[in-house]
Amino acid sequence: MKSHGYAAHDPKSALVPFDFERREPGPKDVVVGIDFCGICHSDIHQVRDEWGGSIYPMVPGHEIVGHVTAVGAEVTKFKVGDLAAVGVMVDSCRVCENCKAGAEPYCFKGMVPTYNGKTFEGEIVFGGYANNIVCDEAYTFTVSDKLDLAAVAPLLCAGITTYSPLKHWKVGPGSKVGVVGLGGLGHMALKFAHSFGAHVVQFTTSAGKVEDAKKLGADEVVITKDAEAMKAHARSLDFIIDCVSAPHDLNVYLDLLRLNGTLCLVGLPEVPMEVSAFSMVTDRRSLSGSMIGGMAETQEMLDYCAEHGIVSDIELTTVDKLPEAYERVVKGDVKYRFVIDLKSLGK
Ligand SMILES: [Zn+2]
Ligand SMILES: [Zn+2]
Repeated sequence: MKSHGYAAHDPKSALVPFDFERREPGPKDVVVGIDFCGICHSDIHQVRDEWGGSIYPMVPGHEIVGHVTAVGAEVTKFKVGDLAAVGVMVDSCRVCENCKAGAEPYCFKGMVPTYNGKTFEGEIVFGGYANNIVCDEAYTFTVSDKLDLAAVAPLLCAGITTYSPLKHWKVGPGSKVGVVGLGGLGHMALKFAHSFGAHVVQFTTSAGKVEDAKKLGADEVVITKDAEAMKAHARSLDFIIDCVSAPHDLNVYLDLLRLNGTLCLVGLPEVPMEVSAFSMVTDRRSLSGSMIGGMAETQEMLDYCAEHGIVSDIELTTVDKLPEAYERVVKGDVKYRFVIDLKSLGK
């Protein structure tokens, strides 16, 4: 199927218009005409080959929302005209223990990413900075028309990446939860933790974010450089979700956990970080991590957001402004996610 989008051809150059072919839709496939696609920081890491192994040409984008334009003969969940969304993965083996448990991101055969990867048949996959995408309905989500569609896009990565661990560790009324970092991931973690009824403490390096964090639902905001303020929370948090993707000292956050507390990493610093055994054995703490969420859980998250009026805070942009948007994402200069309006692709 013919597609048109924006692609990176090497790690250094700007993205440029790109015509390419997707697979012809099969009986279980949905064709989604893409309206909006979020810009995730991991798009930039992969475009610039900062994690290694990038495949070019690369059409990035894994926060995809749009309208169904065609459905295969065996599709049951969608009809033409429905809203639909595609996230970080488009397939997995479906038969391993983890897939069967609804934990598809942890598939033993490896999940098929939405872009910068290959299908099990060896075909290169392209993402959502494009006019359309073909996806198996089992990996495509329904979207409520109650929400602002552009602001739904980041839920497909930033949303589920924070929703899943908060659910897994049973954050709710009575929990005291820390959110580290207030960017694309952090602002969604904050909204969800607040919505689940937890007492939320936002940790940030920047004094300028205090008021914003409170507006988004933080009960308390701590500037991490303020040693006294940090100390005031020692041994008091049940759960901390760490959304920072730059290397940082984990021990200062471990020390804030109470008995049996967990620090969960969802950001992806490129280098290893050191942990002191003393920070772990004190209060029997756990250090963990979490990657997006399962397919059923992602649908549950989208349904929860529709029911509770939760979306991402976004700034709309256009394909011609991608270089500027990328620079601002790297600097953390966006509240809190860029979303590309794909009408800007033209034709
Ligand atoms: Zn992402
Ligand atoms: Zn599997």
